[in-house]
Amino acid sequence: MKKLLLLLLGIIVVLAVVIVVKTLTYPFAKIVTGEGQSKTYPISDTALIRFSGGIRIPTVSNVDYMQFNYTPFDTLEQYLTRTYPRIYEGMEHYVINKHGLVFHWKGKNTGLKPILFLAHQDVVPPGDFAGKDSAAVIFSPKDPPLPPITAIAQTWDYYPFSGNVVNGRIYGRGTLDMKSMLFSLLEAADNLLAQGYTPERDIYFAFGFDEEVGGTEGARKIAEDFKQKNISFDAVYDEGGIVSTKGSLPGINTAVALIGCAEKGFWSVKIKVKGLGGHSSMPPLQSAMGKAAVIMQRLENDQMKPMIIPTINQFFTEIGGSMGFASRMAIANQWLFKGMLIKQLTANHTTNALVRTTTALTQMKGSDASNVLAPVVDFVVNFRLLPGNTVEDVRKHVLAACQGFDVELENVREAREASRVSSTNSQGYKVMERTVKQYFPDAVVAPYLTIGGTDAYKYEMICDHVYRFLPVAINNFEQQSIHNNNEYISIENYSRMIKYFETMLSEYDKK
Ligand SMILES: [Zn+2]
Repeated sequence: MKKLLLLLLGIIVVLAVVIVVKTLTYPFAKIVTGEGQSKTYPISDTALIRFSGGIRIPTVSNVDYMQFNYTPFDTLEQYLTRTYPRIYEGMEHYVINKHGLVFHWKGKNTGLKPILFLAHQDVVPPGDFAGKDSAAVIFSPKDPPLPPITAIAQTWDYYPFSGNVVNGRIYGRGTLDMKSMLFSLLEAADNLLAQGYTPERDIYFAFGFDEEVGGTEGARKIAEDFKQKNISFDAVYDEGGIVSTKGSLPGINTAVALIGCAEKGFWSVKIKVKGLGGHSSMPPLQSAMGKAAVIMQRLENDQMKPMIIPTINQFFTEIGGSMGFASRMAIANQWLFKGMLIKQLTANHTTNALVRTTTALTQMKGSDASNVLAPVVDFVVNFRLLPGNTVEDVRKHVLAACQGFDVELENVREAREASRVSSTNSQGYKVMERTVKQYFPDAVVAPYLTIGGTDAYKYEMICDHVYRFLPVAINNFEQQSIHNNNEYISIENYSRMIKYFETMLSEYDKK
């Protein structure tokens, strides 16, 4: 008995030593925070006015292509032609499917694969801006800057298509998502052209016009055109990640530059549940709605299995150094603590989305009257697919949840598989990592999984290295202003974006 106890004790001691050693020797990246603050970069009034003018053009896309108003897109194209004459002179440019804008900057070395920068011209509707419908233009870039917001704005401070430049900010729909990228790319190229610069390899810009409603007419057609012309890219850069300022990510004590190396898939399915309809005075023992409720509960209670994909493991390796010992121990000893780690990650809705295909019940419809039983009840579930799960996997999962009931499934929108995972060892990633470190010295650079949808995946057919990152440092509340009230970008962020792209455009082949 004593021997057994001793043996047990021995095992525990060995286990503890192994766990601690594994934790201490795990290759967590060194955290270099606070090593020099981000610099403020000067910006010309001209650059601000050009951007602000672009915000004033209400390029709102519409899910219903019959109702799509293309006039503002014509206006924007004319505006760009007028505002950036040097770009239109120095680069080849052409239009795909009437409003997709492509620019081609010829490089010195045609033997090298070109690189591609993306942005979308369209924005989402501005939402409620009651009382702010005056388009009065304010331009006072010298105003003292306001600190970043610390709450979600209840309303717009200014008319959403005013492009007002005030208190160190540029206001309006699209300032973050993502006319800032479109205009800062053009500013950066314009500055380089003014210096007589010619890039080493060919550079392309491609600006779609319907990203917010699926991108099937813009980005998809542009990508198909490249494919048809046999043009493939060494790297593609789009939006999708940001620099999350210190304190914005729970449990992580540093700013983090989140580089989207993969993107979740999308499947919205309508589940039609059949039952007995008619008058509600003699109802069946289980109504169609009751059946639907059972299925919904099954779907929420028994979701797709969580897993830690390589991108997320790499993310942990990069940022683990800023976490507490317990978290580091769990990450370093997944052979033992994986279950615990996953349990912890799935307990929080933000981290849950990183480790599994999420299930969101979004719409439901019964009968039109309070005393009528619907013969068919339908509800919609939106799944966001983790790389590793396919739409077919999820379909099987749904059918299993519907077992015992008479149902029919219908796609609400075109389903999209999760993207491929782009490597962090490519030149495209390395250049980006180096440039991000240069402009955001207080941030840790880490690969990440983009949760929302972007145009980027459409370019997978012509590029293996697709990265999603908008070079702005913003907190949680600024992130939430995207698609919400009072969207703004600080002048500090916008001016740094221009410098960032100057470096990306001119130093891709720097050794
Ligand atoms: Zn966007």
